[in-house]
Amino acid sequence: MTSLHPETIALHGGFRKDPATNSVAVPIYQTASYQFDGAQHAADLFALKELGNIYTRLMNPTHDALEQRITALEGGVAALAVASGQAASTYAILNICQAGDNFVTSTDLYGGTWNLFSHTMKQMGIEARFVDPADPEAFARATDAKTRAWYAETLPNPKLQVFPIAEVAALGRKIGVPLIVDNTAAPIICRPLDHGAAVVMYSTTKYIGGHGTSIGGIVVDGGNFDWAAHAERFPLLTQPDPSYHGAVWTEAVKPLGPIAYILKMRVTLLRDTGAATTPFNAFLHIQGLETLPLRIRAHCENAAKVAAYLFTHPKVARVIHPSVQTGAARARAEKYLKGGMGGLLGFELKGGLAAGRAFIDALELFYHVANIGDARSLAIHPASTTHAQLTAEEQLATGVSEGYVRLSIGIEHIDDILADLEQALEKA
Ligand code: PLP
Repeated sequence: MTSLHPETIALHGGFRKDPATNSVAVPIYQTASYQFDGAQHAADLFALKELGNIYTRLMNPTHDALEQRITALEGGVAALAVASGQAASTYAILNICQAGDNFVTSTDLYGGTWNLFSHTMKQMGIEARFVDPADPEAFARATDAKTRAWYAETLPNPKLQVFPIAEVAALGRKIGVPLIVDNTAAPIICRPLDHGAAVVMYSTTKYIGGHGTSIGGIVVDGGNFDWAAHAERFPLLTQPDPSYHGAVWTEAVKPLGPIAYILKMRVTLLRDTGAATTPFNAFLHIQGLETLPLRIRAHCENAAKVAAYLFTHPKVARVIHPSVQTGAARARAEKYLKGGMGGLLGFELKGGLAAGRAFIDALELFYHVANIGDARSLAIHPASTTHAQLTAEEQLATGVSEGYVRLSIGIEHIDDILADLEQALEKA
């Protein structure tokens, strides 16, 4: 299957039919382990002389179909599906950072990632250095010999300003630092690897799953970063690994292709810390993936219409969506987002906290949930939920005011979406 079109890859990429049964739908391989063909077969699998199934914590044919399909969609070389988006970002960093190391990250992050980086990683002795994403040079200025990666989100909410992927990735490549991009909010409409990112990750819980049914994450290796050329920066990939009988990952994978980063993640981090996905969740995320290109278009079209509607509403002070941005932010959105500007949208009610709460309580079609990327329309008022513990100044620094409402626009008929917003705004 050689198509380069995402609509086709999403249905056929990486899996055509089940080799055992000819099943067209990807089967749910609900098994913990796999019988070895004999002692030599088992020895070869454990020694990585042959790649194959050992134990579902490490690999599973259903997980493999999801990994191969997303790899094909992203233009990468291999992927690792894990239990959640949080597990994916944790592994993306821990795979190359150890105690005493640091990485540089954009300040515009999902709150859970912010906590992970500023608290849990710190407890592990890994320093996250936060920089302003609008200034690509800031990444270079914050970098030293112990910096192992740069990290950013393509379309971070609540600011929804597209990250300058190519500008930052190119600076990093000059000094041998890979850019890891969380593309959760922009699947299909952006392919970060095409712009120079080395690694892409997703919370598959969101648009990829698309139906709000199950938690998952995935890390995709671009295979486009020469770890060995910067060997001193990546000892975890270029020095003998005592946890795997002294394997040097950049050497060990040579017969298999440029997959040192992702193979090492699977056979050490996933083996040891065990944030495996499940065959059933992988199956559900494959189901979602099959219609993702269609759905993302509908999300984007509806969101742009909602942005235009809110833009002129008398109770709305500000609308946050790339389609209504101007200047540099708009130029970046046009450069990086193709076929739509995303389904996430924010707006600020003139009436502040009370208006935000009244609006949320009045919604009838929109669900009031802590999630994004469901086929259904979703809403949340961060000042009374995710951002409630922050001071008013801190809320503003993160781009959230007391009257700020976040919407994840679904794929219902646009007239019904606008009607629900209209009646809720009347009560706000
Ligand atoms: N990255 C982004 C941009 C997210 O929005 C989220 C979740 O909201 C995550 C990562 C974490 O994903 P999960 O909830 O699947 O652990």
